Amino acid sequence: MTLDDLQKSLADMYGDKNKGQTFEYIYAYTAQNCAYLARAVEKGQDPSQYFISSFSWICALGTQLDINIQQAFLKKFPNCCPYCLEDSCICARTNKTSLKYTNQRAAREERSNKFNIIRNNPKLTPNAGDIARKLNSIYPSNAAIWLTHGSHHHFSRLFEELGEVYEAYCSHIGHRIPKEAIEEELADCIAWLLSAWDIQFPQQDFADGFNNYYVHECPVCHSSSCSCSDHYARNKALHSEEDLNQLLHSLKELSSQISSDTTRTPSVSEALELINRATEELKESAATNLTSDIRQTVSRNDTLLVRAKALLASTPELAGKFNALFDAYENIKNNFPWT
Ligand SMILES: [Zn+2]
Ligand SMILES: [Zn+2]
Repeated sequence: MTLDDLQKSLADMYGDKNKGQTFEYIYAYTAQNCAYLARAVEKGQDPSQYFISSFSWICALGTQLDINIQQAFLKKFPNCCPYCLEDSCICARTNKTSLKYTNQRAAREERSNKFNIIRNNPKLTPNAGDIARKLNSIYPSNAAIWLTHGSHHHFSRLFEELGEVYEAYCSHIGHRIPKEAIEEELADCIAWLLSAWDIQFPQQDFADGFNNYYVHECPVCHSSSCSCSDHYARNKALHSEEDLNQLLHSLKELSSQISSDTTRTPSVSEALELINRATEELKESAATNLTSDIRQTVSRNDTLLVRAKALLASTPELAGKFNALFDAYENIKNNFPWT
């Protein structure tokens, strides 16, 4: 599947829905999904859904402005670095210039020749997965930085490009600057995103990730032409009701096991009280349905649970008896991408 195939299938699914939206509306979701992606990667949680949703919103920005993402991408990255024009970037040595085409205009012309060769020969169109791999072969240092220092550099560059998308959009709207600048910035966003995918999932083709995510069409309303309501369902609050039920169930299990224990010491009662308090707090913040509130509560509850565990450990006949239940809660919690 090429980037074109992916953008078209997204336009089929979301085109009608997005038509009535402003650029800013789509941009906001792009930023939100990229931010959640960065966090999921950093926390070591499965980021695959956010890779695809971020990509999808970037495509939607293109669709909104009648920009073909594949053309925009290949125009900027015609199988080489856009500055040094090499398939293994030497920009660090040449200060972002080409050794063969020293004059800027000649370099730009060469880049456009390279693009035209691909454009005029459909067989040369790379598929999305090839693009992801190719980017990391042009820029091997990106993967090296990621693997040594983590993903910060990568995502700060993605956000930088995303900022530039909006700047280019404002110049286009406010000063009638041609939309080529927006195309270039969108191409850069796609480049950072796909290269991140390939570093994170070197064994998985990006198109497979895409197809997994959209296996039931829109993952929220399951329709082939999205019928989600605005500002709500597609916002897919990071947590689900099921997540909260699992957490509550796990806390209740702890509470009932401890209260059915016959060892009655003051520290047991105190531990029980802490766990019940955590349960109540979680129920209360669940009512707001805001992931940020719930996340804060879950994090505050960690302190209560650590204290409860320590209290139980201080009773010799109980030490370790409930550890498996505490661990179970911890596991459930850590598996959610939003905690
Ligand atoms: Zn270069
Ligand atoms: Zn939908």
